[in-house]
Amino acid sequence: MPDNPARTPFVVGNWKLHHTIAESLALCTELKNQLAAVRGVAIGVAPVFTALSEVARRLEGSPIAVCGQNSFHEERGAFTGEVSASMLADAGCTWVILGHSERRQHFGETDDGVGIRARAALAAGLGVIGCVGETESERDAGATESRIAAQLEGLLSPIDAADLGRLVIAYEPVWAIGTGKTATPGQAQEVHAFIRGRLTARAGAAGAAVRIQYGGSVKPDNARALLAEPDVDGALVGGASLRADSFVAIARAATAVR
Ligand code: PEP
Repeated sequence: MPDNPARTPFVVGNWKLHHTIAESLALCTELKNQLAAVRGVAIGVAPVFTALSEVARRLEGSPIAVCGQNSFHEERGAFTGEVSASMLADAGCTWVILGHSERRQHFGETDDGVGIRARAALAAGLGVIGCVGETESERDAGATESRIAAQLEGLLSPIDAADLGRLVIAYEPVWAIGTGKTATPGQAQEVHAFIRGRLTARAGAAGAAVRIQYGGSVKPDNARALLAEPDVDGALVGGASLRADSFVAIARAATAVR
């Protein structure tokens, strides 16, 4: 995962709590075959923990990265139910998604906690996809930027500038996740530009080069317009990543616009 001044689009499928090991292997095999010739886009999949090592083994030799859906900040110890970043790396992951809104909503993750997890994951050698996004009521109250700024502060404060090349931000408006309501390309670009401005103010060129994915009901029919926006560097895809045909179409859309 080198620094990425070219901001190659990164399209990641978040499989959430879906797919057995056998189903995960079937899907990643289809993706490996169908995406073998795709160029100009980086691709990742985030299966459930139990499928990670088998998926990683199946994807060996393919450019598709394997991502964890979460990791804890301690490496090992009496933390029943947690998984550390180094254990994800041991299972074959090169990336981890942190601070997804479902983690924040259902498991009480905080802005500061996400930053601590991100620092630990980077120290373990993983790349981090750090998620930020406002709820519908925050947007309606005109608090989108202040909410995103607070989430970014929590995420970025513990991270060394030298590690920014292994950080990706996923802007995922909570009201668009799994709802079928997508941000318009203009709404997405507005927030992405805000995020890039904060990153640049904090870390100059290294901040400006951080990739910013959009997530929230990305589908084959809306991907192209979203990915064409100048500050949208790929997508974090939930529902549409559970089938090879729709995920492949989104990955292809990313290559078509850059
Ligand atoms: C997600 O889970 O990160 C996501 C964006 O889901 P969906 O594409 O289903 O809205």
